[in-house]
Amino acid sequence: MANPADAAAGLQFTPVDEVPKIVADLRATFLTGKTRPIEYRKNQLKQLAYMLKDHTDDFVESIRKDLGRSRFESVFAEIMGATNEIIETINNLDKWAKPEKPWAGVAWAMHAPTIRKEPKGTVLVIGAWNYPITVQIGPVIGAIAAGNTVILKPSEVSPNTAKLIAELWPKYLDPETSRIVNGGIPETTALLDQRFEHIFYTGNGTVGRIVAEKAAKWLCPTSLELGGKSPVYVDESADLRIAAHRILWGKAVNCGQTCIAPDYVLVQDKVQDKFLEEIKVAYKEFYPESKGGVKGSEDYGKIVNAGHWKRLNGLLEGSKGKVVIGGDGDINTKFLPPTIVRDVTANDSIMQGEIFGPILPVLSVSGVKEAVDFINSRDQPLALYLFAGNSAVKSYYFDNTRSGAAVQGDTLVHYAVGVLPFGGTGPSGYGSYHGKSNFDTFTHARASLDAPSTGLFGKVVEAAMAPRYPPYTDGNLKR
Ligand code: NAD
Repeated sequence: MANPADAAAGLQFTPVDEVPKIVADLRATFLTGKTRPIEYRKNQLKQLAYMLKDHTDDFVESIRKDLGRSRFESVFAEIMGATNEIIETINNLDKWAKPEKPWAGVAWAMHAPTIRKEPKGTVLVIGAWNYPITVQIGPVIGAIAAGNTVILKPSEVSPNTAKLIAELWPKYLDPETSRIVNGGIPETTALLDQRFEHIFYTGNGTVGRIVAEKAAKWLCPTSLELGGKSPVYVDESADLRIAAHRILWGKAVNCGQTCIAPDYVLVQDKVQDKFLEEIKVAYKEFYPESKGGVKGSEDYGKIVNAGHWKRLNGLLEGSKGKVVIGGDGDINTKFLPPTIVRDVTANDSIMQGEIFGPILPVLSVSGVKEAVDFINSRDQPLALYLFAGNSAVKSYYFDNTRSGAAVQGDTLVHYAVGVLPFGGTGPSGYGSYHGKSNFDTFTHARASLDAPSTGLFGKVVEAAMAPRYPPYTDGNLKR
């Protein structure tokens, strides 16, 4: 049964009682070996790329309905990103899937130690609403590449895109090996009651813990792609103009509803005013008054639903900080402009949980040491940013903090660098994906030996290994 927003989008939830059979069918197909040949996997990945290419306009439109997002952001951040990852995966798959033959020394040379890259089996991907292509179809790329059968459960919070994915999937992908299950909590719970060989979950940490607990029943490995408060430190040695542009951009993309969006800024006190002036300059450049400002901008999206809008507005109302730009939202259109709040303190309402919206608190610190101490007094974030020209500051900041990723001089862009693993640490999650780490996540590195056990080589190795048999003697330990 769909909720009102889902019903308005025409999203059909998968009947809960069909879930066990869908999983059983995928498991049965896996055991036939259908997904093992590399050519089959490449073919499915190509189909996925064609689905995105043929229906780019449909995806842009569905994401516009779900998130009010511009065509540029959807194509740039989602469709191009996922398509590039598919192409990279196809190009590298032979290499990644090839068995490794590590050298273990002369003693084991005849046993041919090999690491076989094997699919895990039947896997589940549970997606989040904020980037309904990259965080939903993205992990499926790794699951298919590794030779698994897979279920994708898109988020019901972006129902238009969930509906589109469900409609297009069977037209492009083999329904015997990958399926879409749509739904909310009951449908996801029904899935989590089934046995999988890997669960890849993207979303908040509260549900992440539910997923991990459910998975524990089956000793099923999980990847949890969660969020957190990703800090930025702006040092006096930074180019403040560049820093302001890149930080504001990172906060405004998708209305700040990005897991790695800069959550708050720690700025060195002596450059705080100048930094805020530069933010104002960037703001005017991004959303010129001549084109209606941010409210009239087609490049700026909306908050996903009224519940999130009220949550964000509540954070602003509860804050003791001073709004220097933005703040004037509209619940009817779910518009909330990029909002910069200064003179914020650590105990402020905006500084408790992840903001996950376009509000940017700015706190002043005396320097990098205070910034590091502040960050270390909190949970390890998913991303951590720095703007500094001074190399001693860079080293101190990176060497004394922990986070899923660490970026100097920019925000968000590490997501697009496919050779880097993407994932969190501590409360921002565990496991990673993108590129080879996506393939590795869904692959079992299976240790194998082929010990000579027949013929002449069998006899030679048998003689060499005979001292292991009882009766044991200390003399045999010396051989
Ligand atoms: P969401 O509401 O879409 O939920 C995620 C998934 O969990 C959905 O498929 C939903 O159906 C399912 N779900 C919700 N409640 C459930 C329950 N009780 N039992 C089982 N399944 C349930 O997304 P969200 O949680 O609002 O996502 C926002 C969070 O995700 C933020 O913290 C953000 O930082 C994080 N995020 C992380 C990444 C990453 O790659 N690390 C990417 C995107 C978002």
